[in-house]
Amino acid sequence: LHRYQDPVDLIWLRAAADLGLNVQRSAEAYAAYDGKGTLTISVADDFDADDSLAQMIFHEICHWLVSGFGAKDLPDWGLSNTSRRDLVYEYACHRLQAALSAPFGLRAFMAVTTSWRPYWDALPADPLKDGDDPAIAIAQEGFKLAQTPYFEPVLKRSLSATARIADVVRDVVPPSSLWSTTRAHHRLGSLLSDSEALKCGSCAWAVPGKSGLHCRQHRAPGKSAPHVHGDEQACERWERQLTAEDCGTCGACCRQGFDLVPVSPRDPFRKLHPELVQLQNGEHIVPRPGGTCVALDGDGTQATPYRCRHYTTRPKNCKDFEIAGDACLLARRRVGLSR
Ligand code: SF4
Ligand code: SF4
Repeated sequence: LHRYQDPVDLIWLRAAADLGLNVQRSAEAYAAYDGKGTLTISVADDFDADDSLAQMIFHEICHWLVSGFGAKDLPDWGLSNTSRRDLVYEYACHRLQAALSAPFGLRAFMAVTTSWRPYWDALPADPLKDGDDPAIAIAQEGFKLAQTPYFEPVLKRSLSATARIADVVRDVVPPSSLWSTTRAHHRLGSLLSDSEALKCGSCAWAVPGKSGLHCRQHRAPGKSAPHVHGDEQACERWERQLTAEDCGTCGACCRQGFDLVPVSPRDPFRKLHPELVQLQNGEHIVPRPGGTCVALDGDGTQATPYRCRHYTTRPKNCKDFEIAGDACLLARRRVGLSR
């Protein structure tokens, strides 16, 4: 006789096994790790409505990752369950869990369900972005460990498989189902935008080519930009088209987007503004001490937008710079204005 088993349970039980963890179910514990390879997880009857075995196994793996590889030999990954001493590791685990599951459209599906849920709900779009929270640095280390050959193939396979099941069931489940929180992918790989009204045709990354529109965001190294249809639903990387108006609040190409501006021997800028030109490694450049061009005024606010002090006589390299060109989008990405 064959017994029915939940496919996502199977995916994550296999993930645990491949990482050397034996999962046992017990009504005696919600989730506990013995430091010897056995993970005990509550029985389904004691789960809350939004609990799943998948999420609980994934959560424990994330605890392992933020506690370091050696935590496999420590009960409960070396954490205290009876005091708030190790709360920062719980929070780091949340951040890592969100960062790892989000690219697969599973961030909400894999959400933490315990009493620490308010912390999860308040996480920013990028839970690993530098900040004051001490949990961030711990989560960043956990993320690095997740990319190592021991963990990466197992996590990728398990999250991909869960996302494939989500793709099949998402359209047939009621809104109350946890599966309805999963997100679909654009056919070029990024998650679909939350807004059905946003289309590729209005995106800054889409440029006209010989055979219609092409998406520069999803261009693989050494390949040409893939084709997109103007009327297809945008991905989450959609950006509104840029105009000269945007430069005042951006300034990326004049700040940390690039290291310096080379000035050629025949560029009139050298004679007009010799005090701004330096010789560096045999090349004349306009320097950027602290990351900002010496000719840039303003701070990007509405009151004092970024503006080149010598805009009309700026170096040729700056004149040639194209708003919304590849280099513009690269600069914006480097300063965090674009993804
Ligand atoms: S980056 Fe823009 S053009 Fe490319 S797929 Fe996303 S929305 Fe479409
Ligand atoms: S990076 Fe692009 S949008 Fe930003 S200031 Fe330069 S040209 Fe303007």
